Parts: sequence; C-alpha cells; structure tokens
Amino acid sequence: MDRTSFHLPFTEQHVPKWPCPKCGVGHLALVPKTLVHKETPESLREHEHEAWEPDWIRYVFSCVFECTNADCKEVVACCGEGRVDFFEYEDEEHGWAQSSDDRFTPKYFNPPLVLMDIPKNCPPEAAAHLTESFALFFADPGAALNCTRAAVEAVLTNLGIKRFVLSNGKRRPVNLHQRIQLLPPKYDDLKEMLLAVKWLGNAGSHDGDKPNAGDVRTTYDLLEHALSEIYEAKGKKLKAIAKKVNKKKGPLK
Ligand SMILES: [Zn+2]
Repeated sequence: MDRTSFHLPFTEQHVPKWPCPKCGVGHLALVPKTLVHKETPESLREHEHEAWEPDWIRYVFSCVFECTNADCKEVVACCGEGRVDFFEYEDEEHGWAQSSDDRFTPKYFNPPLVLMDIPKNCPPEAAAHLTESFALFFADPGAALNCTRAAVEAVLTNLGIKRFVLSNGKRRPVNLHQRIQLLPPKYDDLKEMLLAVKWLGNAGSHDGDKPNAGDVRTTYDLLEHALSEIYEAKGKKLKAIAKKVNKKKGPLK
C-alpha cells in the first residue's frame, strides 16, 4: 500500500487523500464547520515571553471526516494537536509578504484508518491486532509496533506453530524468535522478514531509542509482504504460471 498520504499534517484547505477505512474506495473529506481548535493555556501563557514568536502557538483540535464515496459515506472522528506555520511568499505587487497556515497533526482517528493491506484469509485474531496497531500509529508508534508483534504471534498460532513446550512436566512458553525458527522450510524466505518485525516490535516494548512512525511503516511493509505470501501466495502462484509458460515455451491456452 502506498502510505505517502499518511505523512502529516493537514490544513483546513488541504487534507491528504486518506483512503476511507470502511470501503477503501473513497477518501476522507473534512466535513465543513466540524474543525474546532483551541489554544492551550501553556501556549497562551508563553505570549508574555519576551522572545515569543507566533510559531510558538499550540492548539488542540477535533473534527469529522466523511467518505467521498456516495455509496459509503462513512464518518470518521479525529483529534490531535495543531500549530501555526508562517511562511513568506512573493507577491507580484508588494514584493515579499507573510502568511500563515494552521497545521493539524492527528493523534487519533475513530474508526482507525487502515494503514496496510490485510489479506482476506488472514486469521481474525491477527487482523484485530493490526487494527489495534493502526489505532495507535499516530499517537504512540512504540505501542503500534507492539501490536504488530502480537499479530505475528497470532499468525504463527494459525500456522500451527506451538506456543508451549513441556519441560520437566511443566508448560513453558516458546518465545517469538524460536517460534519463527520453527516455521516449516516452505516459509524460509519469510523468516527473515518476520524476525525483523519481531526486532522492531521489541523496540516498541523496551526502553532505549524510541521507535518512530518510519519504523512502524517499515514494519507494515514487511508484514504486508509476509501476509500476502502466506495467505494469498501471490509469488507462488506467479512462479507456477511462469513454470508452465516456460515448459510450453509460449502462451498458455
Ligand atoms: Zn467509504
């Protein structure tokens, strides 16, 4: 999935073409008069500071979007933070002039936006963890990564990879790293990707360098490919077609 449109922020005049989370056909348009914003008390107090500049202003905002697809018209609530962006532009009559834009950075969408393709056959438990990840993506990248790790656990369970081993008569959990290694050889190409998702997911749960939205996008790229290979087998189907064409040395009837 092309995730360029999820690069933030938006302005009242320009909302990126976010795909509708329900139909995936339309995109989200700002419903007129629903965008409200208010400057925070901290921001108001800062006006007294001698070095104050207008770009210190901080808002909170909320608004409602509606799907542009007339057959869908899903509504999505959104809230987050805003700031003022000042920029200079050249005016033909008056030379350089200054203008400003209110820029809004969403933290939450309800229902959450869909941020990666999930194959139809993907187990519902894994899909639920991914939806949870999408809900947290804008507010907390680390927590969003944690959910992708949980999605991988659910996929492994769906593929029959054991979660526990018996050791001295006691049930011991098998960790995610070992579970990925237990995948049958036909998934060898995907092990590396799933391990990368695991490492990125770990970064979401531990202290240290905080993961950012870029890390989550990388994780979605890796998972999107892995899930498509596991549950749609596109690569496998194409390989089979190529094999048949090569055997026939021409088009298939
Ligand atoms: Zn829609």
